[in-house]
Amino acid sequence: MSEIKLTLPDESTVAVKKGISASEALKCIRPGLNAVAVEIDGVLHDLSDSLESNARISFITAESEKGLDIIRHSTSHIMAEAVKSLFPEVKVAIGPSIDNGFYYDFDYDRGFTPEDLKKIETRMQEIVKADSAFKRSVISKDDAVKIFAEKGETYKLELLNEINDATVSIYEQGGFMDLCRGPHLDSTGKVKAFKLTSIAGAYWRGDENNKMLQRIYGTAFPDRKKLKQYLNMLEEAKKRDHRKLGRQLDLFNIYDEAGAGLIVYHPKGALLRRIIEDFEIREHLKRGYQMVKGPQILKLDLWEKSGHLQNYKENMYFTEVDGKEYGLKPMNCLAHMLIYKSALRSYRDLPIRYFELGTVNRHEKSGVLHGLSRVREFTQDDAHLLCTPDQLNDEITGIIHFVRDVMQVFDFTFDIELSTRPAKSIGTDEDWQRATRALTQALDTFGLSYKINEGDGAFYGPKIDFKLKDCLNRSWQCATIQCDFVLPERFDLNYIAEDGNKHRPVMLHRVILGSIERFLGILIEHYAGAFPVWLSPVQTRVITISEDQNSYAETVYRTLLEHNIRTEIDLQNESLNHKIREAQLQKIPYMLVIGNREVEQNTVAPRARDGKNLGAMPLNSFIELINNDCSKALQTLSN
Ligand SMILES: [Zn+2]
Ligand SMILES: [Zn+2]
Repeated sequence: MSEIKLTLPDESTVAVKKGISASEALKCIRPGLNAVAVEIDGVLHDLSDSLESNARISFITAESEKGLDIIRHSTSHIMAEAVKSLFPEVKVAIGPSIDNGFYYDFDYDRGFTPEDLKKIETRMQEIVKADSAFKRSVISKDDAVKIFAEKGETYKLELLNEINDATVSIYEQGGFMDLCRGPHLDSTGKVKAFKLTSIAGAYWRGDENNKMLQRIYGTAFPDRKKLKQYLNMLEEAKKRDHRKLGRQLDLFNIYDEAGAGLIVYHPKGALLRRIIEDFEIREHLKRGYQMVKGPQILKLDLWEKSGHLQNYKENMYFTEVDGKEYGLKPMNCLAHMLIYKSALRSYRDLPIRYFELGTVNRHEKSGVLHGLSRVREFTQDDAHLLCTPDQLNDEITGIIHFVRDVMQVFDFTFDIELSTRPAKSIGTDEDWQRATRALTQALDTFGLSYKINEGDGAFYGPKIDFKLKDCLNRSWQCATIQCDFVLPERFDLNYIAEDGNKHRPVMLHRVILGSIERFLGILIEHYAGAFPVWLSPVQTRVITISEDQNSYAETVYRTLLEHNIRTEIDLQNESLNHKIREAQLQKIPYMLVIGNREVEQNTVAPRARDGKNLGAMPLNSFIELINNDCSKALQTLSN
């Protein structure tokens, strides 16, 4: 009997019988390991696949990211089987795993109801209980076409039509057959915990010219406990949904009359935004940035020169002025280039850091628009840094420092991803090496760990992405630092170096919060609308017990405003309980309840959002307390 040699991830090797299945190999190599698939020479396989030659193998555990994907994707097949058995007239489209779950798209004219979802879930439980194997077979494409044509599965035929291989793999479990690359779990019984979460409309292939299909979303986990944790998190996220809180707190709205993806800020939302903008301006000026501002529309020729017209046209809006074509800006870079070029620059002038709270317009498909997170007009805290190659390290280090300080203020932690040179790219090897090295060295300086996305950089330069994590441990893209070798070239940017010759500056595009809109959405959910005092659009509300205190209350109110404390006053003829409840719903950090005692003693009695009474104090002490709250929140910002 011949043997083959398997190399494990720790570089140890084992000899096994040639031709045994991966699951048999698993039993002798790592008995008891909860594996769901195997990677053979870097390619994922079913555990039932046999091992025919020497190979590097690693088992994919249920808990790993890849393992979760396989569990979820296998569950989508089970869902499709359940749907077909309950609603035979349905046609199946595609069913991938996604972040946190899976979906399957179905063509069903009636549409699914929440009751249908329950029925489907019950049928899925039965399929799991039956523990039938996911059987893989490789057949000719022609045979596959025959099979799916017979079943009337026109979407599968469309997919088959685009496959160039002579053979395709199909998977069958129970009576259900699907066109799929795999891998999958051994059998349906390996699915331990799943839940269907929602139904939505989705165009076939995301194209609004195609038919609207019914997408059922679900999720699956290796065990019930993890599923429960996730469902609890979803519940919590629903309570914190920024669209819901945005209305409750009267921060912003989106109006049909104004247009999809366009945010209308109400007074408190506009103020909240302004507080963040003021904070940003302060922090940028402190760090040697210069404020600049470009126009909303720029001539088409300039967009052509920058390459946006060729690479970004579908996302841009255009207009005409005096017979000339203009493009509405989707990015802020161009005006900054013009400012740099407006004077002769010497190495002594560098680095130059231009900062703009730049409002941009980008066309997004209507299907992806979502509250503040995906919009068609937003403002970036955008900066472009121009420096000599020698200064690159310091500049990148400075930006990382900036990001870290700002994230700390908002109680966010973050993950970092570094994206390197893609196959299709411009710039010299030296450019790429220098820039990539500068990015990694800066990260190392801070001892920050990061994931490398090999070949995932922009065609014009490598980049670092910061993914912040909110209090529900959800991940959001915020800050990025991108090196750019294209624009300095296209705009012929120069500086006179020490050697008296013209040299190209290095250019960095960077944002810290990213889109202010999206960041606001994240903040609303992160704090569940209960913003810290320094951020709260309303820091305190003066509340009277009866109209006897109106005159004193108004004096308190005016004094607070004069001291820049963001204050409201509630003189309604309502019960105290009612007024307190309203202020609590608005999540105002402090209420100042004014009764006869406060009037007589010339004091205020602050009551915190959490219900704690701070006792009577002179108004000055309360102003000091608020100011202390604010400066404490910002004290981590280094100078
Ligand atoms: Zn599949
Ligand atoms: Zn830029």
